Amino acid sequence: MAFRDIVGHQRPIKWLQTAVTTNHLGHAYLFHGEPTIGKRLTAIALAQYLHCEAPQDAPTPDACGLCRSCHQIAQATHPDFLLIQPEDEQKHNPKITIGQIRDIEHLVIYRPLVGSHKVCLIDQADSMTQEAANALLKTLEDPPDHCLFLLISSRPQHLLTTIRSRCITLRFSPLPAAGIYEFLRNRTDRDATDAQLIAAFSEGRLGSALSCDPTELKVKLRQYWALLFGEHTASASRVMDMSEGLVKSNQVQEAIHWFWSGLRDLLLLTLDNSLPPTLYKDQEAALRQLARQMTPFAILPLLHELNQLERGQQRNLNVQIGLEQFFFHLHDQLELSHSQEPV
Ligand SMILES: [Zn+2]
Repeated sequence: MAFRDIVGHQRPIKWLQTAVTTNHLGHAYLFHGEPTIGKRLTAIALAQYLHCEAPQDAPTPDACGLCRSCHQIAQATHPDFLLIQPEDEQKHNPKITIGQIRDIEHLVIYRPLVGSHKVCLIDQADSMTQEAANALLKTLEDPPDHCLFLLISSRPQHLLTTIRSRCITLRFSPLPAAGIYEFLRNRTDRDATDAQLIAAFSEGRLGSALSCDPTELKVKLRQYWALLFGEHTASASRVMDMSEGLVKSNQVQEAIHWFWSGLRDLLLLTLDNSLPPTLYKDQEAALRQLARQMTPFAILPLLHELNQLERGQQRNLNVQIGLEQFFFHLHDQLELSHSQEPV
């Protein structure tokens, strides 16, 4: 993995290349943006470039990607490179512990063996415990000259302000759907229909696009469409059962995402019924029918409610009640639109 292998993110990459070649590299960077869009790959490419035994200058500064150093960094075994990430990925809420942050002391104490820098990459930096964050802050307050800290986060608001203020922040934006589509068509064996579906679903995150199984995606599309607009939404007790089921099976986040996409498709069609649906192509006829009956003003508050529910979920509010309310409001709007249908 070198800079040239990364799809998109030209601006932050150019910024980093320029910083290295003009000797203006800072001590600490925070790469932030949506999950799985390429922040970590960029950090690894930078570490490789700094340590590469045969770096290239043209067409742009980059690592060779082939030498021993490049391999060691990719495998996180290089003596001047430390990768810190939450321990035990399987746990519900994995954390970066103070013990892991203390490993930095062993890394920074000596000067680098080969290259010019000791690089410490902290992935999902927002999952540091309070103790770990305070320990890192101490190091960042007085970083040794030869050290480079690369913090990665999709939730930078969960980092200490004092840590953020000591980092140069680089924002990574999602890729356009067309870019993901092109990549899938040119570099994988996905056919046009699947590539289009995955590009719409992944919302600019190449990592999710690559790990996405289109068959599973189609099953989920049908399932969540049925949950969102099925007949059960007319029955209070069935809505309650469904909401309870989603909470118990830990599917709330996923459900909110799918409901949100369904309503967004519907909203777009209420604005212009000639547009193609982005994600719910399977349900095109039903979507167009609903779009003719509903107005954007009925749908916008529902999208807002889902946004709030997602945020509330992160604060552990009672999501089940929130979901039930959302469905009651959705049903109200559907009833209202039916009653206004021309006879
Ligand atoms: Zn190399």
